Amino acid sequence: MNNVETPNWLANRAFLTPNRVAIKTDKESITFGELHTKTLSFARQLSGLGVSNGDMVALLMRNTIDTVLAIHALKYIGATTVLLNTRLTSHELLWQLEDSKPKTVLTEGFFSERFESIKDKMEWSTLHTLEEIKQVDEKNFDFVSTFQLDLVDTIMYTSGTTGKPKGVLQTYGNHWWSAIGSALNLGLHEKDTWLSSVPLFHISGLSILMRSVIYGITVVLHETFNAEEVNKSILKNKVTIISVVSTMLSQMIDDLGVNKYPSSLRCVLLGGGPAPKPLLEVCKDKLIPVYQTYGMTETSSQIVTLSPEYSLEKLGSAGKPLFPVQIKVVSDGKEVLPNQSGEIVVKGPNVTKGYLNRDDATADSIRNGWLYSGDIGYLDSDGFLYILDRRSDLIVSGGENVYPAEIESVLLSHPFIKEAGVTGINDSIWGQVPCAFINLENQTSLTGEEVQAFCQERLAKYKVPKQVFFVKELPRNASNKLMRKRLVDLIK
Ligand code: ATP
Repeated sequence: MNNVETPNWLANRAFLTPNRVAIKTDKESITFGELHTKTLSFARQLSGLGVSNGDMVALLMRNTIDTVLAIHALKYIGATTVLLNTRLTSHELLWQLEDSKPKTVLTEGFFSERFESIKDKMEWSTLHTLEEIKQVDEKNFDFVSTFQLDLVDTIMYTSGTTGKPKGVLQTYGNHWWSAIGSALNLGLHEKDTWLSSVPLFHISGLSILMRSVIYGITVVLHETFNAEEVNKSILKNKVTIISVVSTMLSQMIDDLGVNKYPSSLRCVLLGGGPAPKPLLEVCKDKLIPVYQTYGMTETSSQIVTLSPEYSLEKLGSAGKPLFPVQIKVVSDGKEVLPNQSGEIVVKGPNVTKGYLNRDDATADSIRNGWLYSGDIGYLDSDGFLYILDRRSDLIVSGGENVYPAEIESVLLSHPFIKEAGVTGINDSIWGQVPCAFINLENQTSLTGEEVQAFCQERLAKYKVPKQVFFVKELPRNASNKLMRKRLVDLIK
């Protein structure tokens, strides 16, 4: 793919369909033509600040049109963008900034306090707020009219659920092929409108922006996730596709009550983590068109997706690989037979070429062009992928493999259980045993013994949580993902 290039995506989109709506928020609506003009001016202001081609620039910004402008403007200039998670503490931010050493950090006044204690330590960077940038005089720059697909466009740190975050290198080609693979699977409708209440600093959100300019479709941008607002917006904005993780979808269904979604909502793309079966069953009853999907920062979004026509027959599967990618399941260095579990290994033009400054981690994860995902799963005899769990979350109890996701799914099928997380704790007899952390629905009560009895009817004995802790909240990251490694902190 060396030297393959495409026209600059937003600029080309503004040339092809300038009057289509690019972004809608609750406050404004902006066409591709306007987005391009504003991006050019934003890029000139960044150039006025000294940002130039080849720079590394970090963004700490919320889901707003200004952030969209910044993301596109940096591509216009030819800078590499590091997308920072807005929920990071100052300490975590400093770690990522020390790792990526961006020349410039762009943020909003809103986050100033976050930088208070660390800005003196960031001697390699200059920090600018949006408010400041808007006062800067515009300066001409060399507009990047074509994107080299093998060039690194963005860097996104993995969420760190399994250890220290790693900066994933995402090329223009990775984003391009991710968008193409998604369209080949979900199809592209002229009136498509994709709602993003997932963060733009995460691949789930950023990939929606990329698809928007590549396909020419509208993004309905929400600053944060609120189930009621999202449900209203689906109706008001005639949303056809929405990306969610399971906790978001559960809250949306609660808010929906007895109502139904309009038939114009053609795809609810559910990813980011295991999809609990009870949730999928509710969606089936309510005719919600859920497409379960598997993907990661390293694959620039979806890589395997299950379409609703299979959601009954293949309940719980993440589906089949998107057209441009290959997938296999490997154990002890060998591809395993159908229905045998092993590590999920993927290859394709949307897969990262590695991690920033981490040749060791890159060599460990990418072997002969295949990315070792760290997830355990199996392919059934029809080629549908089932994800069991993360390799690092696996609990080995008395020699048996116990997958927390399976136990969580059973717990979540209890009507009183709102959230559930399972992790292993050390045990002198079994090595490790599963224990459960449960957040109950309001005004309900359960005892640990009742929870265990419920599990006993549905799970083999070694999978029944040996201890049950009731908590008010489970540790989740900015993408609402359960941080299983942090569960034990709740009982320290
Ligand atoms: P870190 O690598 O630092 O732990 P992370 O893996 O959470 O971060 P992401 O790229 O956000 O970073 O998430 C990808 C992971 O999410 C996958 O490797 C997988 O474990 C999980 N995941 C995504 N989709 C699914 C799915 N459909 N079913 C089960 N797990 C999923």
